[in-house]
Amino acid sequence: MNLSIQQISKTYPNGLKALDQISIDLKPGMFGLLGPNGAGKSSLMRTIATLQLPDHGQIYWNGKDIFQHKIDFRKVLGYLPQDFGVYPKESALQLLDYFAILKGINNKNERKKIIRYVLNMTNLEEVKHKKVSTFSGGMRQRFGIAQLLLNNPKVIIVDEPTAGLDPAERSRFLNVLRNIGKEHIVIFSTHLVEDVRELCQDMAIINKGRVIRQIPPKTAIESLKGNIWQSEKEKEQWNDLSCPVIELSHHFNDANQLTTRIFAERQPANHFIATPVKLEDYYFLTLNQMK
Ligand code: ADP
Repeated sequence: MNLSIQQISKTYPNGLKALDQISIDLKPGMFGLLGPNGAGKSSLMRTIATLQLPDHGQIYWNGKDIFQHKIDFRKVLGYLPQDFGVYPKESALQLLDYFAILKGINNKNERKKIIRYVLNMTNLEEVKHKKVSTFSGGMRQRFGIAQLLLNNPKVIIVDEPTAGLDPAERSRFLNVLRNIGKEHIVIFSTHLVEDVRELCQDMAIINKGRVIRQIPPKTAIESLKGNIWQSEKEKEQWNDLSCPVIELSHHFNDANQLTTRIFAERQPANHFIATPVKLEDYYFLTLNQMK
C-alpha cells in the first residue's frame, strides 16, 4: 500500500498559490500534516480526495494515477472534511444503515456486521440509539469516522478533527485514530503539535503551500538533543552570549514567571538551563528558519 504525491501545485482563480510543488510518500500508519492556518493543509487534502484537480503534479495509489482512475480510488478512500456539517435527527444506527445501503452494501447481515465493527472501532456502541443531532462535538467526529469506515477504506483523510474538542474528547478521538492507523494510511491535519507527537509515526511540516520538512516526530526530537535551553531572564538582560541563539517560544512556569525557550549549539550563558526537547521546539525552529 503506497500513496505517492508528486510535485502537486495549485493556484486558485484569485491568483493565490495554495500548493507549491508538494511531494510526500505515504505508507500505512498515521501521517501528520502540521502547519499554521492557511498553510495549505485543507487544499492538499481536498486534492488527495479528488475533490479538486491540481494544476501540476500527480498522485499515485499503488502506482495508478488517482485522477485518471477517480472512481476506483474513491472506493478505497474515506474523507472526513473539516466541517462535517450534517447532524440529522435519526439515530446513529439508522444513519449508518442508510449510509451502508448508499455505499452498496445490500446484504442485511453484511450491513449488521460492518456496522457493529465501525461502532466498536469508534466507541459509539453504547450511544447507537441516540440521535446524532444530540451528540457532542467529539461524538460527532467519531460518528464521522464510523461512517467513513463502512466501506473499509484503505486511505483515510481527516481534516483538523480535534479543533474545538475538549481534552477528554480529544484524547478519545486520538485513540480511535490510533487504532485505525494500524491498518490504513491515515492522513491527519492539525495545527496542534501535541496531536502529531502523540499519534503520528511520520509527519510533514507545511507552510505557504510547501513541505518544509518530512520527518518522523521521534527523529525530529532526537535531532535537537542538547540544543534546547530555557531562561527566566528577560531578553534585555541577555548580555555577552557565547553563541547565537534563536528564540522559539515563551511560557509561564509553575511560579508564573515568563520563561523563554531557545535553540543554541551550546549553552550561551549560565542562566540558560538545558531542557528536554519538545516537538514544538522543532516546529517553531523550522518555521523560524523559513523567515
Ligand atoms: P489550511 O488548511 O492549512 O488552513 P487552506 O488549504 O485552507 O489552509 O488554505 C490555503 C490558502 O488558500 C489560504 O490562504 C486560503 O485562504 C486559500 N484558499 C483556500 N481555499 C480557497 C479557494 N477555494 N479559493 C481561494 N483561496 C482559497
